Amino acid sequence: MVKLDAYLPVSGSIKARGGIYEVLFHAESLAVKAGLLSYQDDYSKLHSDEFRQFFSQYSIAVGSTGNLGLSIGIISATLGFKVSVHMSADARQWKKDRLRAHGVNVVEYQSDYSLAVEKGREEARSDPLCHFVDDENSTNLFLGYAVAGERLKAQFDESGIDVSADKPLFVYLPCGVGGGPGGVAFGLKLAFGDNVHCIFAEPSHSPCMLLGVHTGLHDAVSVQDLGIDNVTAADGLAVGRASGFVGRAMERLIDGYYTLHDQEMYELLSLLAKTENIHLEPSALAGMPGIQRVLSAGSYLKRMDFTPEKLNNATHLVWATGGGMVPEEEMAKYLEMAGV
Ligand SMILES: *Cc1c(COP(=O)(O)O)cnc(C)c1O
Repeated sequence: MVKLDAYLPVSGSIKARGGIYEVLFHAESLAVKAGLLSYQDDYSKLHSDEFRQFFSQYSIAVGSTGNLGLSIGIISATLGFKVSVHMSADARQWKKDRLRAHGVNVVEYQSDYSLAVEKGREEARSDPLCHFVDDENSTNLFLGYAVAGERLKAQFDESGIDVSADKPLFVYLPCGVGGGPGGVAFGLKLAFGDNVHCIFAEPSHSPCMLLGVHTGLHDAVSVQDLGIDNVTAADGLAVGRASGFVGRAMERLIDGYYTLHDQEMYELLSLLAKTENIHLEPSALAGMPGIQRVLSAGSYLKRMDFTPEKLNNATHLVWATGGGMVPEEEMAKYLEMAGV
């Protein structure tokens, strides 16, 4: 099965979960504190000129490889906040154009994601009216992602899909800094307990979570420290240093990690477009080979006591994390890269 976060409203990626939640939470806190909103009110009043005027005193900053900026930028600007998005070199031009059209201040860097985040953090530190959405450390962002666990459980209940010790659920999650897949995995564990098995997928040029957890060094090590370049077509996953918060919180709850090459993502992107007419961005394909990786991991299957019978009754779910907003001409380029 495939979970189509690519088709989530507003920003077309998994970032619609964490990013929009964190901004709404922040807006709610400010409005309640100012006596303009109570928990019993109809919250649609936040979408009004009066509230836009109020929120325009405040600003929001974020560092991003693209999609988090898109999500935070659009919701923040719509509510009336001043918003700056610090974009790494990986960010696609169309994402920057889209944000500027919303009146967002886009700051571009020629370096990778970690520096973009650091610059955003710096900007916010010097301004008490600025809230920094911290992709590496924010618990609100994490909780926004985690709601996906309950949502998926409700969908499974509705569809009559059972998850139990005899009918395990495997979920394959593309991982960048770790907040998205970590938060979703946390929510899935709350919803399905030991019967859900989460596997993280990373580009072979950006395996930051695998490296951080495997060495136990978490955010004290980067892929660049090992001579790996952190250059990948999967811009949503182009992160060289994982979140230490997520790695430490989640390492005992994740079953495994694997990496894949950019070309495999392109080929799967093309295959999915041709066979299912589902259009995703490269990052969102990283979970696709997961089922094959798990079913050929003999020692893991044995250690976990996944008998052939249990595996016959298992559900495999790929988290398709983004691509819903990719312009047609960009999609055509992705399809061309598949070369098949
Ligand atoms: C951000 C992103 C991810 C991974 O989320 P992280 O929080 O960075 O680990 C996966 N897929 C897409 C499309 C993304 O934009």
